[in-house]
Amino acid sequence: MEEIFSCKCCGHCCHGTSTVSMTPEEQERIASFLNLTKEQLLEKFCVVKDSRVEMQIVDGHCIFYGEDGLCKIHDVKPFQCRRWPLHPGILGDEAAWRAIKADCPGFDEYAEYEDVCRLVKERAEVGC
Ligand code: SF4
Ligand code: SF4
Repeated sequence: MEEIFSCKCCGHCCHGTSTVSMTPEEQERIASFLNLTKEQLLEKFCVVKDSRVEMQIVDGHCIFYGEDGLCKIHDVKPFQCRRWPLHPGILGDEAAWRAIKADCPGFDEYAEYEDVCRLVKERAEVGC
């Protein structure tokens, strides 16, 4: 796997104008990790967009992005964060993968699309 993808912890995917959404279970887990109630988590760290609950953006990055470049809630971060950038959405959409690869230095420069798809499927099978 490292030959195809190895996260460089550059933090690029934690920056932007929005973040991933959190399931109710993830909200509970993160709140517990931070010794907060779910209501306190929502008030201090989240933003509600229609039915989506996302993490707040502060200074252009997720509120949980640390000054050391690491995720402050790494142990309990949302599934979408753990899975990124090996997202099933790239299966059958090579252009989508190339767009992600352009922003993510974790992919080997010579990684082939077919090998990345195989990796995505393998991770899905083991529940990653
Ligand atoms: S952009 Fe890629 S290499 Fe950088 S932190 Fe995100 S997954 Fe890791
Ligand atoms: S929860 Fe952590 S990994 Fe996910 S976007 Fe925020 S800082 Fe990045």
